[in-house]
Amino acid sequence: GVASVSDYEKLGVLGHGNGGTVQKVRRRKQLQQNSSTETVYALKLIHLSDQSDPVIRRQITREIAVLQTASDSPHIVKLHSLLSTARYSSIPALLLEYMNAGTLSSILNRHRKLPPKTLPWVANQVLYGLSYLHSHRIVHRDIKPSNLLLNTSGDIKISDFGVSRIMRRSLDPCDSYVGTCAYMSPERFDPDTYGAKYDGYAADVWSLGLTVMELFLGHFPLVREGERPDWASLMCAICIGDSPSLPESAGEDLRGFVDCCLKKEAGERWSVEKLLEHPFVKGDHLADSQIAFKDLLAIPLQI
Ligand code: ATP
Ligand code: MG
Repeated sequence: GVASVSDYEKLGVLGHGNGGTVQKVRRRKQLQQNSSTETVYALKLIHLSDQSDPVIRRQITREIAVLQTASDSPHIVKLHSLLSTARYSSIPALLLEYMNAGTLSSILNRHRKLPPKTLPWVANQVLYGLSYLHSHRIVHRDIKPSNLLLNTSGDIKISDFGVSRIMRRSLDPCDSYVGTCAYMSPERFDPDTYGAKYDGYAADVWSLGLTVMELFLGHFPLVREGERPDWASLMCAICIGDSPSLPESAGEDLRGFVDCCLKKEAGERWSVEKLLEHPFVKGDHLADSQIAFKDLLAIPLQI
């Protein structure tokens, strides 16, 4: 029959998000074909209230199945399979590749900011992930530090594509959205032009630009340090005035890269393919950047 969440044993909670809980799991001993290869996974259980619309439910299941066919890249957190949750809901749980070193958001919590030397590697890896998704006609729509997962080999992989977006359709946009809206591009706030005029790929590039800025600065670039923005002030910061930019101390390549990602007009923003040719993410310094990033992961938590 269909594999079920009950075939897996829970080893602990990895985290909670807006739409679900993620647990560390492994296949139950008696079900393991070869007990010497014990694989650990991350199991994402999607929470939907019972009353939710059957149309939305069917759509989620269908879109998850599509995504299942498009996670075959070393730069994307692999979706191994869908598990039935029969007793709890009609929405399957996602059995994901386990990433053992947290997220870029947890790195920010630990180190406050990332050493500038590590950023070319981070941007390069995310660009490869986006390049894969975009070539499969998938727009992620939720690129941000907590959706960029890490392992101790120094890999940075994109997770949560599409799924979070579908789930949130049923939520109140003004509350739970704020975290995600923070990384939304200006054109996405304009329902008339978005969709009609843009294919959406440029929105992921905007979010990448903001993410790289945040990793460098140690705080979200569109609000003052320590401030918790509301929906209205965020929207103003994104849509009115110039795009944010980095100080000269960031260096020419990093500043230039961020500027190319944060062109206000979606049509002027660089594509992922073009950004992969930018000197910031290309050349001899990339290998050093990768080593610096791996070293950062090895630094133990300081309390
Ligand atoms: P959002 O709901 O906006 O996506 P989020 O990304 O924090 O917020 P989830 O995607 O539900 O929420 O993930 C919750 C947490 O679980 C993540 O922040 C991460 O720490 C952990 N996590 C998620 N997927 C994995 C995975 N494949 N391997 C290891 N940890 C994971
Ligand atoms: Mg997430």
